[in-house]
Amino acid sequence: MYKFTLLLLAAILSGCLRPASEAEKSKLPEPEQVLVEYTHLTPTDFRARLAEAPIAYLPMGTLEWHGEHLPLGSDGLQSFSFMKDLARKVGGIVLPMLYLGPDMMRIEDGKELYGMDVWLSEEKGKMQMPAQQLDGSSYWVPEELFHQIMDHSIKQLARAGFKIIVAHGHGPSTNHVIKHWQEWEQKYGVLVYTCWSWNVRGENDVEASERAGQEGLGIMIDHAASNESSLMLYYYPELVHMEQLSDDSAQWPLAVAGKDPRIYASAEQGQRAVEYQLERMEQVLQQALDSVIAKNSEN
Ligand SMILES: [Zn+2]
Repeated sequence: MYKFTLLLLAAILSGCLRPASEAEKSKLPEPEQVLVEYTHLTPTDFRARLAEAPIAYLPMGTLEWHGEHLPLGSDGLQSFSFMKDLARKVGGIVLPMLYLGPDMMRIEDGKELYGMDVWLSEEKGKMQMPAQQLDGSSYWVPEELFHQIMDHSIKQLARAGFKIIVAHGHGPSTNHVIKHWQEWEQKYGVLVYTCWSWNVRGENDVEASERAGQEGLGIMIDHAASNESSLMLYYYPELVHMEQLSDDSAQWPLAVAGKDPRIYASAEQGQRAVEYQLERMEQVLQQALDSVIAKNSEN
């Protein structure tokens, strides 16, 4: 046994100490092996990735009801996964997901109700439902506090050397970024983006917006309906439970807004949306990187 252990040890050591062959050295890491998560990087990794592309990705999530079929962290999971794909394609570093966010708030009978608790009660037709506290939602912060969180986060990211910030996820959080991008650009000298095509720093990509509207090829453009369910089926099939929705198509799923996920959601549709938007965002961010390089050479 002792001899066997020694032999094993020798074999392991010789394997470890053997110099890498030229073929091994030239092997680049597979895209999914490239470290893109901020929390996983050493300062050496960080410096290298920042020098390659000074882009910070901020996935804005929630802990929020997303129908009976999707997990409560769906917003952060979708934006985080899409941003990791984007960072592997374009470069940059992905921050941990935020789980606090703003939303509409109303007090009824002394009870605070947020976002989807009340939103659909104001809609007409089949989606109409009484205002109610939906199970699991626990994310709401006032708009002013969210603004401070974002403002300080962007200030810190600019200080760390990032020149481009991509913040995307939960609808009201993304809308907050669209409302304030100019303020942050002026204050901190960074370029701020979301992943929605109809408002890339105040511009509208008409073709992409039409494809998002007509074909569902967007990133997080409904609430737990065909788009978000498709993205979750693509990225996290094991966390999606379509069987927990009623088979009765006349019964609309509670607090789901958009096209019926039971009919229109699929992993393939999620993949189509991701591939289309990865390509579009790659172009957007490449232009941003070019303008950062041009600005640097002026100085
Ligand atoms: Zn969502």
